[in-house]
Amino acid sequence: MTAQLIDGNALSKTLRAEVATRAAALKARGVVPGLAVVLVGENPASQVYVRNKVKACEDSGLHSVLEKYPADLSEADLLARVEALNNDPAIHGILVQLPLPAHIDAQKVIEAIAPAKDVDGFHVASAGALMTGSPGFWPCTPYGCMKMLESIGYELRGKHAVVIGRSNIVGKPMALMLLAKSATVTICHSATADLGAMTRQADVVVAAVGKRNVLTADMVKPGAVVIDVGMNRNDEGKLCGDVDFAGVREVAGWITPVPGGVGPMTITMLLVNTIEAAERTAAASAT
Ligand code: NAP
Repeated sequence: MTAQLIDGNALSKTLRAEVATRAAALKARGVVPGLAVVLVGENPASQVYVRNKVKACEDSGLHSVLEKYPADLSEADLLARVEALNNDPAIHGILVQLPLPAHIDAQKVIEAIAPAKDVDGFHVASAGALMTGSPGFWPCTPYGCMKMLESIGYELRGKHAVVIGRSNIVGKPMALMLLAKSATVTICHSATADLGAMTRQADVVVAAVGKRNVLTADMVKPGAVVIDVGMNRNDEGKLCGDVDFAGVREVAGWITPVPGGVGPMTITMLLVNTIEAAERTAAASAT
């Protein structure tokens, strides 16, 4: 069997067109949806990420503001900038690009973002909302994975999903989202005794580790859906995921490629969260 591809670029195109339509509808009501992206320091990867995010906003008709600060910006000054953005009516979503320089407490900065503008979904209020099934913002990467499963019409109810990785931004929220859809969820991590014994039981595997070839063909149940969140470099310096793509695609039923899978979906869900934030604000001010 050769797995079918879940194409993150194609799905992103569809979802971004929907965002553009929603943005146009808001603009017709006098509301221009706005995202502020805050970058501190010169991290080259972060610079690429923020550039892509700002461009994606522009392409979908969202207003975006990129605030760049030197690496020696003080924590107090960054917190003051976040507070100013919290109070700026033209800004509906705030994203502080991580990682931050070591002298800044990243969690403190995230907690300073107003939950109504937390389009990255990292605030503790957003995490609590996801855990309790209340309205909030879902972290973009696992939210994008859920959209990919939805796009193939996959019914999660009663299925066994194995998530490899337990970070606050991918693994844990991913597990909660799958649970909310009534999958039976196993979370694996670096201390899992026999990873293959877990993944071989899985109807769905989400790999979010950051190491090449964490998931190989012998670890996958025939026909399973494999979502590869990982972003690594292979020996030739090319982008690759956590999954041995060539081997696993011969066993799995569905698979996401790297590049062109979860990566574009992450930015797309940022746009979706931002338009959602703007719509909520507009609805609240209309009542
Ligand atoms: P992270 O915070 O480093 O977490 C990695 C997780 O993998 C940890 O929970 C760790 O376990 C677990 N792990 C490490 N080695 C393992 C092993 N051999 N077997 C099983 N589990 C193992 O990373 P992250 O932020 O979640 O990101 C994970 C990957 O996704 C990275 O490659 C990152 O670049 C990528 N990513 C991609 C996107 C995208 O848009 N495509 C977005 C976000 C992240 P412990 O908790 O026990 O240490």
